[in-house]
Amino acid sequence: MMKLIDPFARPISYLRVSVTDRCDFRCTYCMAEHMQFLPKKELLTLEELDRLCSAFVGMGVEKLRITGGEPLVRRDIMTFFRAMARHLDSGALKELTLTTNGSQLARFAADLAAIGVRRVNVSLDTLDAEKFARITRWGRLPQVLDGIRAAQQAGLRVKINAVALKGFNEDELFGLVDWCGAEGHDLTFIEVMPMGDLGEENRLDQYWALSDLRARLAERFTLIDLAERTGGPARYVRLEETGQKIGFITPLTHNFCESCNRVRLTCTGELYMCLGQEDMADLRAPLRAHPGEDAPVEQAIRAAIARKPKGHDFDYSRQRVAGQVSRHMSHTGG
Ligand code: SAM
Ligand code: SF4
Repeated sequence: MMKLIDPFARPISYLRVSVTDRCDFRCTYCMAEHMQFLPKKELLTLEELDRLCSAFVGMGVEKLRITGGEPLVRRDIMTFFRAMARHLDSGALKELTLTTNGSQLARFAADLAAIGVRRVNVSLDTLDAEKFARITRWGRLPQVLDGIRAAQQAGLRVKINAVALKGFNEDELFGLVDWCGAEGHDLTFIEVMPMGDLGEENRLDQYWALSDLRARLAERFTLIDLAERTGGPARYVRLEETGQKIGFITPLTHNFCESCNRVRLTCTGELYMCLGQEDMADLRAPLRAHPGEDAPVEQAIRAAIARKPKGHDFDYSRQRVAGQVSRHMSHTGG
């Protein structure tokens, strides 16, 4: 079948799938404390998610990242992972992975490893239990650390994702680096993005530019730029002194769109061609209108990819937030 190529000649080989909008945490930069979640009938069933993801795999998607909300709080999520593992077994899919807050990893790590998941991204912004409770509102640090240990024991490689937050984890830069070094985890810092309504939390106040974080890191370590690119907004360095790999996801200070290879599917079947744009395609309608037929869904996917924009418009310059999109990160799946 013809592979997916967008109007800027970028092959689309990476699909990120949000399987739920729900979460057992309420991170302040991601969600409001009281969230109105979607009614069940709006959500794609696990079978519908299977159909859609399998259509993408059939059209050349080689990497699938499961995210949310918190993917591991979706009921029967292992059924879906097991379904996707058949594409690993057939060789069509090169990688099946997930981004999680880690709270349920102690329960799921062994099963995930058994079906062929090799790596997991765990979001963790602080190693201080009190600060962790504050930033996640509902989360508890020991539970997440147990989850991370379980993942390691199951043989999964763990990458820690930390959102860089001014006045919050600036003082933990070296603490996080040292801990990840000692535990053998890769570490990536993420710039806070203007998602959702800015209301109570002013994200300009929280914004800690990774150019500054990087400069501070360079005061203690020698940073060697790595050529490695994943088609996304991440850049990597190696710390010469420790050999650790550190990533920087900088959608705001760096333009990465020219090599973008990814699209995002929400738990309601909306396909976002760009994280930073409002345009999306409804894939649920053709999916539900044609239960036994794949062609209409494939057609809708191709039509959507043909509209993939060149890039996003996020911009924090001149001390205001521009290019902001109104949906929450938990909706598009981060
Ligand atoms: N619940 C899972 C987790 O926390 O890893 C998966 C979904 S979460 C939306 C995915 C990633 O998005 C997390 O690493 C989180 O820190 C990040 N994120 C959420 N809101 C963000 C924001 N406003 N700016 C930057 N990153 C954000
Ligand atoms: Fe939940 Fe992840 Fe959002 Fe935190 S960042 S509220 S863990 S979805």
